[in-house]
Amino acid sequence: MVENVIETEKLTKFYGERCAVYRVNLRVTKGVVYGFLGPNGAGKSTTIGMLVGCLRPSYGRVKIFSLDVFKHRIEVMSRVGYLPEKPVAYRNMRLEGFLEYMGRLEGLTRKEAREKARELLEFVGLGRLAVKKVGTLSAGERQRLGFAQALIGDPELLILDEPTSNLDPVARFEILSKIRLLASEKGVTTLISSHVIPEVGRVSDYVGIINNGSLIAQGPISDLIAQEEDEYLVRVSDPERLATRLLERDYILEAKFEGKDGIRLRVDVNNAHKLWVELPEVLTEEKLALYGFKPVGDPLERLFLRKVGVA
Ligand code: ADP
Ligand code: MG
Repeated sequence: MVENVIETEKLTKFYGERCAVYRVNLRVTKGVVYGFLGPNGAGKSTTIGMLVGCLRPSYGRVKIFSLDVFKHRIEVMSRVGYLPEKPVAYRNMRLEGFLEYMGRLEGLTRKEAREKARELLEFVGLGRLAVKKVGTLSAGERQRLGFAQALIGDPELLILDEPTSNLDPVARFEILSKIRLLASEKGVTTLISSHVIPEVGRVSDYVGIINNGSLIAQGPISDLIAQEEDEYLVRVSDPERLATRLLERDYILEAKFEGKDGIRLRVDVNNAHKLWVELPEVLTEEKLALYGFKPVGDPLERLFLRKVGVA
């Protein structure tokens, strides 16, 4: 049986009359990286606040490791590493001192805490700043420190609220690959929220998409995008001729002209392989010269945009 590390049932949160989260049933299975995606204001941080026991649900339940978070908060949270959207830290402490202190709070001995702090500062790329004061860090460095802080107790479950929002593209890539590494090497289950879809798609196995407080899609990425459409950009010597021939086929959903020699094709994903076979045949039959052929965009991002009603 698949074990759910996080399981919520009809999780709902009202702020006064405003409904921020509505009947959300999250399922996060053991060992996966789960991308919790949604535009700004969708309800990600509110949901996460309820997962970690900081916010009380208006209705519904949260179970982590099969335990009710509100009845067993200390026990549950001792096995969870949490990076809040706006990490807080003691401004006047040095980075290594701060992490060591956090390690002590997690029950490590002084020596263990010191070693762990050094190791984690290296891991998140802050090794050379170990003796700097927390208050002098940039937003991105602060986020890295928060990531280290979330890892100090060797958690089985990591909950990261927009861990890459203040990072530049290189740093994002670095942190996301560390998250992937923790999952594959240590089996750490991870929930990571974000509004940056393609990059989270690359490291996640599962996604849940939230919009206006409701979970509108959830499942393995491969299943979700299997129902999507593929898009390709083809450049040829006579785009009109090619479009006429391709539109005879059912799996070509749309062909739009782009530039002087381009056609943008929307293709049924389940039959996309046919295009790869038949396009060269048509080109030969019609004696067309091919200048370029490439997939366009990211299927997960397209799914997201369609689900939230933008595309
Ligand atoms: P996200 O993290 O996806 O950007 P949030 O969970 O922070 O979204 O917010 C969801 C909605 O709830 C937003 O409309 C936000 O304005 C509202 N909200 C969040 N926190 C509060 C609060 N403490 N009081 C009132 N409204 C809030
Ligand atoms: Mg948020």
